Amino acid sequence: MRRRIAVVGSGPAGLTFARVLHRYGHPVAILERDPAPDARPPGGTLDLHRGLGQLALDKAGLLTEFQTLSRPEGQAMRILDTDGTVLRDWQPNPDEQANPEIDRGQLRDLLLGSLDVQWGRSVTRVVPGTRDGVLVHFADGRQEAFDLVVGADGAWSRVRPALTSVAPHYTGVTSIETSLDDVDTGHPDLARLIGDGSMAVYGVNRSLVAQRNSGGHVKVYARFRAPLDWHTNLDLADVEAVRTSLLALFDGWAAPVLDLLRHGTAFVHRPLYVLPVDHTWTHVGGVTLLGDAAHLMPPLGAGANLAMLEGAELAESIATAGPGDLDDAVRAFEEQMWSRAARWAKITTAGLERLVSPDPAEALAVFDQVQPS
Ligand SMILES: Cc1cc2nc3c(=O)[nH]c(=O)nc-3n(C[C@H](O)[C@H](O)[C@H](O)COP(=O)(O)OP(=O)(O)OC[C@H]3O[C@@H](n4cnc5c(N)ncnc54)[C@H](O)[C@@H]3O)c2cc1C
Repeated sequence: MRRRIAVVGSGPAGLTFARVLHRYGHPVAILERDPAPDARPPGGTLDLHRGLGQLALDKAGLLTEFQTLSRPEGQAMRILDTDGTVLRDWQPNPDEQANPEIDRGQLRDLLLGSLDVQWGRSVTRVVPGTRDGVLVHFADGRQEAFDLVVGADGAWSRVRPALTSVAPHYTGVTSIETSLDDVDTGHPDLARLIGDGSMAVYGVNRSLVAQRNSGGHVKVYARFRAPLDWHTNLDLADVEAVRTSLLALFDGWAAPVLDLLRHGTAFVHRPLYVLPVDHTWTHVGGVTLLGDAAHLMPPLGAGANLAMLEGAELAESIATAGPGDLDDAVRAFEEQMWSRAARWAKITTAGLERLVSPDPAEALAVFDQVQPS
C-alpha cells in the first residue's frame, strides 16, 4: 500500500522534499498556509553553496536551470568603514560557482515547477499515534490522516510541538529590512557603491548590508543589538518615523551609506530568533522536521541551503527504504541532520556575535577568514 506522506510548508525545505520525492514517483501532499505562491513578497537573494543548496538542486534535477538563472557575479563583496573608506573589495572570477546568488522568488518558481501545492491550508497542530495514523488539524476545522507528516513550516512551526516543547529565543539582534528599486537608473551612485553583489559596513554593535537582487532591486538590512522592546515609543508602521529612528541610530556614518536608508521604500522589522544550537528531540514515529522548523539559526547564508539539502536527503531516504523501513529511514535522517545543523548553528551563532559586535574589527576578521582565495 502507498504510504500517505504530507509536508507542511512550501518553502525551500518543503518544495525540495516534494520535488525529489516526485522524481521517485512518490505522491506527497504539500500543505501551505499562504493562499497563493505570490501572496507575500518573496524576500531577498540567497546564495546557494556548491555542497549544500546546489547539491540539493542536483538531486532534484534542477541544477542546470539554476545555473542559467543564478548570478555568479552576485558573490562580489565589498566592506566599507563607517566613514565610507573601502576596506575590502572582493570580485569573483567569472566562472566562480561556489556560492552564486538567486532571487528567492526565482528559486521558489524553479522548485514549484508543476508541483501541486494545496494553497490556503493552514495547519494548526499535528497529533501522532492515532488509530488512523498522524492526524493533521487545519485552521478551517478539517482533519486529515497521514503515515508521515514532515514539518517544513519554518521558524514558528505548528508541527514542532508534536516533537518538542523547545521554542525559538531572541538573539539580542534586530534586523530592519528596506528595499530600493531600479537602483541603476534611479540611484546610480548607490549602484556603484554596492557593486555587483553585496556591500557591508560594520560599526559598534550595528551593521548595514546592501545586497543586489536581479532587475536592479536592492535589499538593505540594518542590524543592531537592542532589547526586544526597543521600539516601545515608535510606530513601526510609520515609514518616516522608522527612517528617522534608523538615521539617528546610524548617525555619523558616511552620507552615501546613509542614503541606503534615506531612499528605502518600506521597513520590515525582524528581531532575529534562533533555536538552541544543538536542538534535537526524542524520535516520534510518523513526524519529523526539516529546515528552520528543526534548527532556526542566524540568517548568515546557511538556513536555506541546509533546508534544501535536508529535503532532498529525506526524500531519497524514504524513496529507497523498504516497505517496513520508513521509520528507520526517518530516524537515520534525523541523526544526520542534527549533527550537520549543529555544526552550522555554531558557525552562524559565532558569526552573528562577531558581525554585530562592540568591536567592528571582528567583522573584518570574519570576512578575511571566509573570503574565497
Ligand atoms: C533576511 C534573510 C536572509 C537570508 N539569507 C539567506 C541566504 O543567503 N542563504 C541561506 O541559505 N539562508 C538564508 N536565510 C535563511 C533562510 O531564509 C531560511 O533558513 C529558509 O527560508 C528556511 O526554509 P524553510 O523551508 O525551512 O522555511 P521557510 O522558508 O520559512 O518556509 C516555511 C513555509 O511554511 C509555511 N507555513 C508556515 N506555517 C504554516 C502552517 N501552520 N501551515 C502551513 N504552512 C505553513 C510558510 O508560509 C512557508 O511557505 C535568510 C533569512 C533571512 C530572514
